[in-house]
Amino acid sequence: MLTGKTALVTGSTSGIGLGIARSLALHGANVILNGFGDVASAKAQVAEFEAQVGYHPADVSKPDEIAALIKYCEMEMGGVDILVNNAGIQHVAPIDEFPVERWDAVIAINLNSAFHTTRLLLPAMKARRWGRIINIASVHGLVASANKSAYVTAKHGLIGMTKAVALETATSAITVNAICPGWVLTPLVQRQVDARAQQDQVSNEEAKRRLLAEKQPSLQFTTPEQLGELTVFLCSPAADNIRGAAINVDGGWLAQ
Ligand code: NAD
Repeated sequence: MLTGKTALVTGSTSGIGLGIARSLALHGANVILNGFGDVASAKAQVAEFEAQVGYHPADVSKPDEIAALIKYCEMEMGGVDILVNNAGIQHVAPIDEFPVERWDAVIAINLNSAFHTTRLLLPAMKARRWGRIINIASVHGLVASANKSAYVTAKHGLIGMTKAVALETATSAITVNAICPGWVLTPLVQRQVDARAQQDQVSNEEAKRRLLAEKQPSLQFTTPEQLGELTVFLCSPAADNIRGAAINVDGGWLAQ
């Protein structure tokens, strides 16, 4: 279905980004990966589907590195039809103890990076008369939790930007939407499980159960594969008129 399209997924060497990259490749897209860590393994997991796989090591907290990433996409991969702004980090602390450097990093990676990729890629999408921008926000773009002020601020901002850009592109074949997951068991969340296990002096399994029980009524983690398939759907013609939506995939978190 996505044959001939090229997708850029920021922060796609692990977790949700890697799951989305794999789904896009499974459905025929070529994929440009980005992020740190085990790049070879991520590349191999996407190449499994015979997609053309690119990679750029940009640190998306840095605008000049994002510009280099976009140049790479254009020069080496023929441009970007599908942009998935996924890179993100978390830091948990009350606001009066929040390290200034962590606040700046969360806002730069989770919010500002999507501004830079969007502003740099939109002109080419307009010229090609087709595009998809999918911002991986969070339930924390719609509601808050204590001790996550930077993350909640960034994700609310990302949903705001999603709506604004969706309006700016509303009469074109470019759509802009946000996906808002609840708990997904990725390295980002495993660190919070570990902290919970330590704090409550319980096993890893019990810490997971407690984390889910607080917020996610299904008591199930969403999987990266499920978010990947939703991303593919948002790229399909059936989703042509879904614009500026913030779609929660949260096991009932926001229904409460
Ligand atoms: P993860 O830690 O597994 O993956 C994060 C990815 O971003 C990695 O590939 C990492 O290398 C990359 N990354 C981090 N900093 C970067 C930087 N400066 N430049 C480039 N790449 C960078 O996390 P995840 O859970 O898969 O999270 C992915 C996205 O989903 C984030 O935006 C996160 O906020 C969002 N999200 C996650 C959950 C969850 O429960 N896991 C829930 C809601 C939203």
